Amino acid sequence: MSRSFVPSPNIARLKESATLAVAAKARSLRAQGIPVIDLGAGEPDFDTPAFIREAAAAAVEAGATRYTATEGIPALREAIAADANRLLPAGATPFTAAEVVVSNGSKQSLFNACMACFGPGDEVLVPTPSWMSYYEMLELARATAVPVFGHAERGLKVTAEELEAAATPRTRGVMLNSPCNPTGAVYSREELEAILALADRHGWWVISDEIYLRIAYDAPATSALQLAPARDRLILVNGVAKAYAMTGWRIGWAIAPVAVAKAMTSVQSHTTSNPAAVSQHAALAALTRVDEANAAIDTMVRAFHSRRDAVLDALGTARSLAVHPAGAFYLYLDVSSFGGEDPGAKFAAALLDTHQVAVVPGSAFLTPHWIRASYATTEAIAVDGVQRIVRLLTAGA
Ligand code: PLP
Repeated sequence: MSRSFVPSPNIARLKESATLAVAAKARSLRAQGIPVIDLGAGEPDFDTPAFIREAAAAAVEAGATRYTATEGIPALREAIAADANRLLPAGATPFTAAEVVVSNGSKQSLFNACMACFGPGDEVLVPTPSWMSYYEMLELARATAVPVFGHAERGLKVTAEELEAAATPRTRGVMLNSPCNPTGAVYSREELEAILALADRHGWWVISDEIYLRIAYDAPATSALQLAPARDRLILVNGVAKAYAMTGWRIGWAIAPVAVAKAMTSVQSHTTSNPAAVSQHAALAALTRVDEANAAIDTMVRAFHSRRDAVLDALGTARSLAVHPAGAFYLYLDVSSFGGEDPGAKFAAALLDTHQVAVVPGSAFLTPHWIRASYATTEAIAVDGVQRIVRLLTAGA
């Protein structure tokens, strides 16, 4: 007799990652021999720089094959603190390794932070559209995610006033992400400053996901650590995945007040323990061989920049329908002209069926009138994909 699986209440409301679902559909079409232009992926198409791969291989030979401390090897935690200190304003107290927890990707750092800081009854403001995992992580922490929608005329960014209007006495925190996935929008210094001041006034936790910080085109993106009026409620999250083309190595980190860092380490110690030793050594090379790393990042960001410009050109007059992509590697496009209740999903399905291009419907980010196209692929492929998007937009539903 086979018995059916009834999910526990812990996960009953979890949703499948739409980004992964689109990638799976594109893979299955490819397996049937149908060539698909995949603009669904959220990872750099570059290989991890050679000096990092070589450092990892050497570390394995030198014995980096065992458990490490849950919170990461001391040298990497120090390198992460030093990396953050380079951005601190003059006179600010430097971060130390005691404030750093290394995790299996920034995703785990975000999850640990949500588990450590939020619980039942807590409300957490999520500027929306946003990366969908924030909602699910908050759900797993049994807190309530409160989406706060940004206006199209501001690149779908939210203002401090909009956040304040959504707050209640139960509000405990806000999730920030600049440059933003899915929109590519970047918060200005002033916008960020106003939000940080608001959070500070209310004593809210600020979890600032800065995984795309180094990938900005019009000007360097601002980190919350450059502006925060206080650090006792600030958790910075970053990692090597996007800027260093190291998605598969799974190394991210949080920089948080020591008590929070300890609590996050405790969560991690009972779930995954330390991130892979070899990956920590790879990240150590990435963060300490600064000149080589900067050269590699510059090359990749220049390529993303050139693709960004090329896809904007390919949009032509449809450019007015896109959020200005000042960072990350995503184009967020308003397809509401396609009509229906969920124009983004309708558009994405039609695009895959008739033009063989995979994109992510905006409903994945709680904004069903939009689609997300990633240009983390060759320029020729990205432009071809965007030209097909324009053809479908012009043809209509
Ligand atoms: N935060 C955002 C906004 C992302 O888009 C992603 C990956 O897509 C992550 C975090 C996770 O990155 P990592 O690979 O470091 O876990």
